[in-house]
Parts: sequence; C-alpha cells; structure tokens
Amino acid sequence: MKKITLIPGDGIGYEISDSLVKIFEAAKVPVEFETENAGLDVYEKTGELIPESLYESIERNKIAIKGPITTPIGKGFRSINVYLRKKYDLYTNFRPSRNLPGIETRYNNIDLAIFRENTEGIYIGEEKYENEEKTSAVAVKRITRKGSKRIIKSAFEYAKNNGISKVTVVHKANILKFTDGMFLDIAREISKEYENIELEELIIDNMCMQLVTNPERFKVIVTMNLYGDILSDLVAGLVGGLGVAPGANIGDNIAIFEAVHGSAPDIAGQNKANPLALLLSSIEMLKYLKLDDFAKNIEKAILKTLTDGCKTADLGGNITTTEFTDKIIKNLK
Ligand code: NAD
Repeated sequence: MKKITLIPGDGIGYEISDSLVKIFEAAKVPVEFETENAGLDVYEKTGELIPESLYESIERNKIAIKGPITTPIGKGFRSINVYLRKKYDLYTNFRPSRNLPGIETRYNNIDLAIFRENTEGIYIGEEKYENEEKTSAVAVKRITRKGSKRIIKSAFEYAKNNGISKVTVVHKANILKFTDGMFLDIAREISKEYENIELEELIIDNMCMQLVTNPERFKVIVTMNLYGDILSDLVAGLVGGLGVAPGANIGDNIAIFEAVHGSAPDIAGQNKANPLALLLSSIEMLKYLKLDDFAKNIEKAILKTLTDGCKTADLGGNITTTEFTDKIIKNLK
C-alpha cells in the first residue's frame, strides 16, 4: 500500500480533503493517506508553520497532496508553498487545463499543459533598495542552464509520452537577451533531440493575445517562472477558474500535487467548497503513480457527475461539497 502525505491546509482545505479521502476509499485506490498539516491553523495550535513531522512524512513517502495553505504575514516564510518547492527542488510546476462538461466557457476545445520553471527566475527573492531614500529598487532574475534544461526536457518528455507533436516555448528574449535568450537557446538545443516534435517560439505578449483569441491551438507550453505563473492562471480562467485548476510541483525524487486556489475564508466551513481542483490534482497524482485504471475510474465519475449538471455554487450550481462528493461516489465503477 503506497503511503501519501495529505496536507489539508487551511480554510476549505479540510472540506475538500475529506471529499478526496472519501472518493479514494470508495474507489478502493490502493493508497493510504498520512495526514500532516502546515499553515495558519497549525501555527495557532503549535507555534510552528511547518512541523518537523510534515518534513519527515514528505521525505519518507516522497509524494504529497495538499490543499490551500495560508502563510501568515511576517512569520518567517514569504510563502510556505514557495518554501516547500525550493526545499525539495520541485522544479516542474505542471498545470494542465481542459474544458469540463457542464462548465460553460468562451472556448470549447482547450486541452493544454503548462510547464512552469518553479525554482528560479524572479522568484529567488533577491530584492533590494538601491538607496537609503528607497526611491529605487531592484529584483534579480536568475536563469541557469541546468534549471532551464530540466524544465524544457520535462515538457518535451510529456509531449512525447502523450503523442503531442508541438511544444511552445514562451519568452521575452528580444529584450532579455542573456536570461530569456539562454532559455530560448536551450529549448532550441533540446528540441533537436525530439525529431517528431516541433518547437514553436512565442514572445510572452503575443502569447497572451493568442491564448485569449485562439487557445485551442496550444497543447504543451514551457516557460520561465513568472510568465508561467501568470499564464497558468490565465488558462485556468479560460476553462472555468481556479476552482477547477489542478497542479503539481514535481522534482526528481519528490512530488507535491495541489489545488492551486486559496483557502477561501469567505466560504470555509459552510459545505460550499468545490473539491474539483484537488480531485483533478489527485487524478494527476494517480497517473504519476502509474495507477492509471484508478485515475480513469475517478475521472469518468467526475465527468459523468458534471455532465448530469451537478455543480457547486462557484460554478453556478446549488449542491454542497458533500452532495457533490456523494454523486461522484455513486458514479464510480
Ligand atoms: P482564494 O482562492 O482563497 O479565494 C478567491 C475567491 O474564490 C473566493 O471568493 C473564494 O470563495 C473562491 N474560491 C476559491 N477556491 C474555491 C473553491 N475550491 N470552491 C469554491 N470557491 C472557491 O484567494 P484569496 O482570497 O486571495 O486567498 C485566501 C487565502 O488563501 C490567503 O491567505 C492566501 O495566502 C491563501 N492562498 C493559498 C494558496 C495555496 O496554498 N496554493 C494559493 C492562493 C492563496
């Protein structure tokens, strides 16, 4: 039985985690959850934002799934999420997005995955004022060959394994000639190793325009940290919003799957939360664990539930988190 660290997080994290555990039990997925929390609630109880037992659990199990975590301001961490990504060198931020039945959107054939470099770029936190008057400040954007190579390789491997014939690299190398220029050069080098996959090159501003006019034409996008952060939320918006956006942070040895939305304090504890983002992340986790049959069973049950018109309030429906969960369970094989 594979053990998985479950980090419920804060706010609606508990309700959506309950939904996940119930569905996995009903689908008889051969995994066991080890619950260890981090964030504001844990801090208020124990004085620690990330307890030692959580690190031990992640390091033992090598795989975790997490709900939304609130990082209290001024408590030693800029963001717990960013900290965990750095600590475990989870360099691939994987954000798949696709249209779901019963969720009306402007476009109908979106099915794409964004590979965002997760450890470098402007997120390294090297910022400073340039003078005492604080009238000028700088932030460092660091791009390395090693960091670029491994994320671009992840994107090409995904395209190869899923029979996708094009990878789109997004950059601003016309202005940032050293940093983005290096990323683009490496994409060109790596693309030569994949005979049947075309490399498409797009500048970030053009990419934004293309995504809101013709998103169906993209399948795999690879880019640096900040562009990837923005593009992945943009695309989530195209398919129904953050409530349906799964994500994963993947390194060579450890992976943390996650719902990308926040803890939604406005609806926490009211049985209104939409568990879809966490459930769709769990399907990606099952594929990562090569438990494809279980992933398919749960995915089909979710799609059938949505096709039947069952939706939580954020998607324009009127059913509760527990009712939605029960309907999915009824639709399992
Ligand atoms: P949020 O995502 O929590 O909420 C924005 C809006 O979307 C709210 O109206 C909320 O009710 C709704 N919403 C979000 N997820 C939903 C879901 N699954 N079902 C139904 N409705 C949903 O964003 P916020 O209000 O900016 O942030 C709240 C807290 O979450 C902050 O403390 C922030 O630090 C934290 N946060 C955590 C993560 C993370 O752990 N990955 C991400 C973003 C924000």
